[in-house]
Amino acid sequence: MSEKITKSEQEWMDQLGFEAFKIMRMKGTERAGTSPLNHEKRKGMFVCAGCGEPLFASDTKYESGSGWPSFYQPIGDDAIEEEVDKSLWMTRTEVHCAKCDGHLGHVFPDGPKPTGQRYCINGASLKFKPED
Ligand code: FE
Repeated sequence: MSEKITKSEQEWMDQLGFEAFKIMRMKGTERAGTSPLNHEKRKGMFVCAGCGEPLFASDTKYESGSGWPSFYQPIGDDAIEEEVDKSLWMTRTEVHCAKCDGHLGHVFPDGPKPTGQRYCINGASLKFKPED
C-alpha cells in the first residue's frame, strides 16, 4: 500500500461536495435505498469516491436487502481498514479506505458465503467503473 493521501477539510469539501463530505469525512450515513449504485449490476470495479483506489469488485456485490450497496469481500487485504465504532449505543466495525481514510460504511458478520461478511457501504463513498 502506498502512502496515505492527506488533504485539508476544505480541500475534501471542494472535491466531494457537501453530501459526500458528510459521509466520507464526518462518518455520516446516506438514507437507505437512495444510492443508484444499489442497482448497479454491470461488471466492473467500485473505487473510492475520495481517492479512486479500487475497493470492491462487482463479482463480490450481492443484494442484501439493506438498501445500501453490499459486498462480501474487499478487493484486497490492505484496501480497507477497520475500526471499532461505539456510536449510536452499538458496537460496530467501521470500515474506511486505507489510502485516504474516507469512511465507507460498516462490516457485519451476517454475509453470504464464502466469507460470511457483509460490507455495508454508502454508495456516496464509491464510484463505479464499468469494465469495457
Ligand atoms: Fe480513498
